[in-house]
Amino acid sequence: MRITVVGTGYVGLVTGTCFAETGNNVTCVDIDENKVKKLSSGQITIYEPGLEKLFERNLKEGRLHFTTGLAEGIKDAQVIFLALPTPPGADGAADLSFVLKVAEQLGNLMTDYKVIVDKSTVPVGTAEKVHAAILKNSKVEFDVVSNPEFLREGVAVDDFMKPDRVVIGTNSERARKVMGDLYAPFVRQGNPILYMDERSAELTKYAANSFLATKISFMNEVAVLCEKLGADVDMVRRGIGSDDRIGKRFLFPGIGYGGSCFPKDVQALVRSSEEVKYDFKILNAVMDVNEKQKVFLIPKIKAYFKDGLKGKRFALWGLAFKPNTDDIREAPALYIIEALVNEGATVCVFDPEAMPNVKQVVGDKIQYAKHQYDCLEGADALIIATEWSVFRTPDFDQINAILKNKVIFDGRNLFDVQRMQELGFYYESVGRAVSK
Ligand code: NAD
Repeated sequence: MRITVVGTGYVGLVTGTCFAETGNNVTCVDIDENKVKKLSSGQITIYEPGLEKLFERNLKEGRLHFTTGLAEGIKDAQVIFLALPTPPGADGAADLSFVLKVAEQLGNLMTDYKVIVDKSTVPVGTAEKVHAAILKNSKVEFDVVSNPEFLREGVAVDDFMKPDRVVIGTNSERARKVMGDLYAPFVRQGNPILYMDERSAELTKYAANSFLATKISFMNEVAVLCEKLGADVDMVRRGIGSDDRIGKRFLFPGIGYGGSCFPKDVQALVRSSEEVKYDFKILNAVMDVNEKQKVFLIPKIKAYFKDGLKGKRFALWGLAFKPNTDDIREAPALYIIEALVNEGATVCVFDPEAMPNVKQVVGDKIQYAKHQYDCLEGADALIIATEWSVFRTPDFDQINAILKNKVIFDGRNLFDVQRMQELGFYYESVGRAVSK
């Protein structure tokens, strides 16, 4: 099939590359000239494990193309995916201007039947708005389908190639057939393609992300209670996770959820609820808990350094909002940095992939280390904000030798408390005993 993907970010580039990998001819369109230039010349623009190999292969075999021209990009397409940003607007609702602007342009450019697919996360009713925006200028038949994306950054290629399910929202038989054919190679193991109406498909995506965010905030509150009541959240987590009805996944407490999806999607669903005069109480609490959780370690750090943080130096491991990505959107580490710098502390950071992105946002307010151990030099404490694998079994002798004080604040519960006690570290984590 001939496919166009408009928007070549995390979702668009993975979508385009994976569809090319199954033999389709894919053109990716982006307004960012620099990005298109890099991608056309074989340079990948995001860090996503496994993507580079597929990208290089499909580019070389001529199944993957990049352009800034929408007209040129959609000329021969049978299916057009919109993988455009839907950031929060001033009131927290999803800003649809990127999606609707492209939809309006499409109406003028289409010369034969096309299926237009909303891949972006969009509120209920958007497929109808996209349909209306295209119809304003269109002279040809077309269908608009809602096909929300469930990939997770860090394992996006696997998620796309072997999805748990594919959700396709459409009432058009013609579009349903096209989408079914396109996705058939991805569900050979028997995972379902779930066909539904557009509105249900749109809400499915928000409900999924909001439910996962709820699980995280719930466990973070359990962790707070564990600290107050003298229980161990790791034990409680295992205790409840072994119940099939609850499940083991997504029960790890920490310093809150971040990224480009959970924060904005939970907020957008709350706004959608308000628009129909419904008070979605649980989600308001989920957001409140997460706001506090992002800086959960700060009061602990302040309590430890009784003479204040001014002039103190901190090493910070982990900047990305989660491991295996360079994405720093709404990353808890950024909130920690801000709080520490505001208190007059110096911060030296290390992250395996996300440092260039942080440099662009935070600049020289902080220092950037070449190696994870370099930033420990002269630091009063080490703070851990992202659970990258390389941080899980560090050389504690080296940490001990370089850090000024044997003090670690761990926002991701990477180490065993008993072990840290034996090694003589002051070690605070989330929802567990303090090793002194
Ligand atoms: P992104 O910001 O990484 O990428 C968006 C791309 O669109 C950018 O490259 C930008 O230059 C381009 N763009 C903007 N306006 C354009 C225009 N008029 N024409 C062509 N290109 C244009 O965003 P993303 O993370 O890929 O997310 C895209 C959508 O997918 C969002 O709605 C998001 O909520 C949703 N989503 C994201 C993820 C994720 O993990 N990132 C997962 C599922 C769903």
